[in-house]
Amino acid sequence: MTKMKKIGVVSLGCSKNLVDTEVMLGHLVNQGYQILEDFDRVDCLLVNTCAFLSEAVTESLDQIVELAKLKGEGRADRLVVTGCMVSRYGEELRGEIPEIDGVVHPGNLEGVIEAVTGENPVKQPEHDKFPTRLRSFPYHRAYLKIGEGCSNHCSYCMIPSLRGEFSSRETSSVLEEVRWLLDQDVREITLVSQDTGRYGFDGGAGSLSGLLREVLKVQGDYWLRVLYIHPSRVDEGLLDMIASDERVCRYLDVPFQHVSERILSLMGREDAPVADDVLELARRRLPGVFIRSTLMTGFPGETEKDFGELLQFVKNAGIEHLGVFAYSREEGTLAADFPGQVPSGLAKERMEILLAVQEEVSEERLKVLVGKDLEVMIEGADEKGTYGRHRGQAPEVDGVVYLDRPQVLGDIVAVRITGSSAYDLTGKILDE
Ligand code: SF4
Repeated sequence: MTKMKKIGVVSLGCSKNLVDTEVMLGHLVNQGYQILEDFDRVDCLLVNTCAFLSEAVTESLDQIVELAKLKGEGRADRLVVTGCMVSRYGEELRGEIPEIDGVVHPGNLEGVIEAVTGENPVKQPEHDKFPTRLRSFPYHRAYLKIGEGCSNHCSYCMIPSLRGEFSSRETSSVLEEVRWLLDQDVREITLVSQDTGRYGFDGGAGSLSGLLREVLKVQGDYWLRVLYIHPSRVDEGLLDMIASDERVCRYLDVPFQHVSERILSLMGREDAPVADDVLELARRRLPGVFIRSTLMTGFPGETEKDFGELLQFVKNAGIEHLGVFAYSREEGTLAADFPGQVPSGLAKERMEILLAVQEEVSEERLKVLVGKDLEVMIEGADEKGTYGRHRGQAPEVDGVVYLDRPQVLGDIVAVRITGSSAYDLTGKILDE
């Protein structure tokens, strides 16, 4: 019997990167590889990197160097680097870290076979099917990528140069993956891409609401969630489609980034509609919707007045889930050369101010839920007890609901909300 080859894997970065890791692992399992969590002795070490911000670059480099050390100690024969670091630095990486044996560009995930084995793979026949994917824990929910890249070219962002222009995945391929995930008892599917609202805009594949219509034809008792919709693509058609079927979570992830017209224009997001108008439309067409957004402080040229507008917005908008980031000057982006760079200390200070205000806003938003009955999907347990998420809480980024007793992971239970804090809720499971 031939010995199974072993591979140790580290996946860094966002949910989209995790899907890429799962697809690469699917290719490797098909080649007879076994995936190990402990790297005591493996044939190959693989790290799928993130390079979106310089902080992520540092984390990726540290990880590569650590794995190179393990290889040096004889714990692995090969080291392969994949993901955005490869897009950003290409072959330069191999020059800097000679232990790297192979690199894989995110646009060519199948290339992982050659990089890992060091041999030319036998060419598989072309087919339209979704790529084989080895799903990672937890198994009751999954991200599903409906496109790759971004065509917005925001002046601060590396994504278009790392991942290329936005390209939609074929609807048939998305549907096939939906069916495959449901066959594996997945209870929640989260549609992701860098710019999900742009689905179909690159020709042929329809629109995001058209895609949702098709997905909802797939029978089953599941939750469907959509992440990352550019404000300019929030329209009545999309909101009505979300409202049309209760399997779609009333949840809108709409990254505003800023509200000052001048800053939005410098950001290359001048086509973004007024944030308050987007919120008003969303709440009117989708009563009870939970909003997630992200904002950026300290963009080059941001004055006290611009920041004041942003602060006022956070105070009044009543957004349920808000991420705030301090601008990070990324080499190779347009904004890196803009005049009026804001000192990073000031950018962080402004970020902290917004986060403190948001804590109060979040607390107020959560209080309103006390006494309500909500469906909760069980996510896990920690020292505070078993917890889950209601439809208005996305996996990994939003708060959770702590429950009064243990439940099976992935189950959906009816819960009466009994208490709230700044970000989390508590609830009592209702007996049938
Ligand atoms: S829309 Fe998002 S991913 Fe695309 S360029 Fe702008 S910030 Fe980057």
